Amino acid sequence: SEVLRLAGIEKTYNRGKPNALTVLDGASITLNAGEVVALVAPSGAGKSTLLHIAGLLDDADAGEVAIGGTVFTGASDRKRTAARRADVGFVYQFHHLLPEFSAIENVMLPQLADGVADGAARERAMTLLERVGVASRAENRPAALSGGEQQRVAFCRALANAPRLLLADEPTGNLDPATSDTVFGALMALVRETGMSALIATHNPELAARMDRTVRLEGGLLV
Ligand code: ADP
Ligand code: ADP
Repeated sequence: SEVLRLAGIEKTYNRGKPNALTVLDGASITLNAGEVVALVAPSGAGKSTLLHIAGLLDDADAGEVAIGGTVFTGASDRKRTAARRADVGFVYQFHHLLPEFSAIENVMLPQLADGVADGAARERAMTLLERVGVASRAENRPAALSGGEQQRVAFCRALANAPRLLLADEPTGNLDPATSDTVFGALMALVRETGMSALIATHNPELAARMDRTVRLEGGLLV
């Protein structure tokens, strides 16, 4: 079944002005359940714009965005926020963990915001941290962790509410190649275990080769 569908997405920044820039010009893609797709694009091609539109953080000028078969084009902010919280996990190049909270608290917070009880949230957080090999760092704050450990915790936070779609923008892009390889392996294992779908932007052909297929963002189109 279909988890994400983008159909004919168009996006122009500064529309109608001399500096207008068309970034997306009819981009389309469908991700089925459990499908993991590499998104490859030169810097500035519109990768982040596409991921933000797919995750209902930004609006397209035209085209349709559907998550789990529900179309969100023109939906209210409330509906989009609810869908984003329930169905979408985000990972960025930088971890964006909250510095004043421990690793496990960072993974618990999205669950607590979703109404999960403290004990259950802690248990799920610990299970996720164990799966990616950072359980021993659970009580440490992000600043005490290595870059690779920080990203692993960020993956756990993105998956804390069991979303069906993961959107990742260069998730291991700020790590050295060896660390990037193992940390990416941890992310893939988590994604495969949960059966979620993922659209993962990367510049690294070796990482792209570990996914089900690759789409390229070129001239505003996905090919
Ligand atoms: P990528 O993630 O592939 O590097 P982005 O989606 O961040 O690309 O940006 C695509 C293009 O759109 C870039 O040229 C960028 O400068 C421009 N851009 C991004 N956001 C805005 C914005 N809010 N206003 C104007 N131009 C933008
Ligand atoms: P609220 O202010 O009620 O938290 P938001 O619209 O800010 O609502 O956020 C809704 C969900 O989307 C939250 O899970 C939040 O973490 C996520 N979110 C908001 N902005 C971003 C962003 N730029 N990147 C990734 N996730 C975001």
